[in-house]
Amino acid sequence: MGMFDTIIFDQPIPCPRCGAAIGSDQTKAFERTLEEYRIGDCIAHAEEIRIVGDDLYCHACHTYTTRYYLAVYRGILVGIELEREAAEAQLRSFNFEKLLLWYHDLYQQRERARGQTHRAEMFMHNVCQWFEGGYDKMAPEDRRRLLFIWSRDILEESDTPLAALHGFQARRQAEAQASNNADDPMNLW
Ligand SMILES: [Zn+2]
Repeated sequence: MGMFDTIIFDQPIPCPRCGAAIGSDQTKAFERTLEEYRIGDCIAHAEEIRIVGDDLYCHACHTYTTRYYLAVYRGILVGIELEREAAEAQLRSFNFEKLLLWYHDLYQQRERARGQTHRAEMFMHNVCQWFEGGYDKMAPEDRRRLLFIWSRDILEESDTPLAALHGFQARRQAEAQASNNADDPMNLW
């Protein structure tokens, strides 16, 4: 099947043939679930300690230009190297404290993703309640105060459920933008 995952490089790799900066590569070496992985991400099962060699594709010259190597330590992508020896050195020098720090980051990512999912579910629930309950037809003072606290402004601006979904997406994009600007690049996801 044509499924793959995408490895996002922390530093673009210059194409050895044309010099174009290659920022990412598709790989079929992992679960092939169309995920994006960066250094520090959990990419494989926790028992896996291995080097994965892959061919690097350049979109500028439309060819596979070189081998490159992913160092996977305890399931976490810890290094991306052009030389196999360098990837092996990454595995040898890996230590438990680094793993704990990455574990900490992954746990934070998980909590953020959980929060996002929870809010999206809440919002869908509120949209149904708002439009099916006829709140969109009510005068503002007749709407019960404690309902729709987080999403009320979006709902009040929206004439239809579809408009409400657009409002939610716009807010989510604005929040992602704001947190991307505030965070250091390692925390982008
Ligand atoms: Zn190239």
